This record gives sequence, structure tokens and C-alpha cells, in this order.
Amino acid sequence: MHNQNNNCVFCKIIAGEIPSKKIYEDEDILIFYDINPVAPVHVLAIPKIHIESLNSINIDNIEYIPKIFEKIPEIAKNLGIFEDGYRVITNIGENGQQSVGHLHFHIIGGRKLKWEF
Ligand code: AMP
Repeated sequence: MHNQNNNCVFCKIIAGEIPSKKIYEDEDILIFYDINPVAPVHVLAIPKIHIESLNSINIDNIEYIPKIFEKIPEIAKNLGIFEDGYRVITNIGENGQQSVGHLHFHIIGGRKLKWEF
């Protein structure tokens, strides 16, 4: 069983307690549509264990990072944004404007992105 945090919205999505529009799932990671998209394509890739942010990555949990990154180009192809390009973002902490305290990578595309949305 994966390490979960009862107060975490993404842990609840992983547990199926909150609905989500899933794109890809395996035993370690989940990729699903962002509820509040900032571009025509906006999905989130998360590890299935509760890691607060990139600040909490260490030797014991770093295995989730290549698992997520290995899937991103495949997902980008499926979503039709691979050729034109897209952006992968992870926000960290208050100044990074992280609003959900469970490590996630935004995959955003489908239009020409400005530096600020
Ligand atoms: P951040 O601000 O980087 O922490 O990003 C959190 C993202 O999670 C935002 O883009 C939200 O729109 C998204 N989000 C929050 N709750 C949900 C949810 N229940 N399902 C899908 N996306 C969500």
C-alpha cells in the first residue's frame, strides 16, 4: 500500500475518494486532467506516494521522478502536443505558488505559451 496523507486532495484522487479524469495510471504514478486548465491541454502527473514537493525528493523516493518523466513524452504524443511543444512545471512552496502539497508536474500545451499564463 502506498504512503498516503489523509488531508491531501491528490491522495484522495489516488484512493478514488475524489473523482478525476484519468489519462494514465500504473502502480506508481497517475496522470489526470487539471480541474482548472490554463491552456487547451493541461494535465497533472503525480507519484502515488505522498511527497510534499520537489523539496522532499531524496534517495529513497527519487525513483518516482524517472517513472513520471519517462511517461511524459508518450502522454504528450497521445494528447497531440508532442510536435508543437509544451511545458512541464512543478511549483514549490509559497513563492512557487504551490497550492496542493503533493508533488505534481503540470504538462501544459495546445497553444503558444507566454512566460506567465
Ligand atoms: P499548484 O498550484 O502547482 O499546486 O497546482 C495545483 C493544481 O491542481 C492546480 O492547477 C489545480 O487546478 C489542480 N487541482 C486542484 N484540485 C484538483 C482536482 N480535484 N482535480 C484536478 N485538478 C485539481
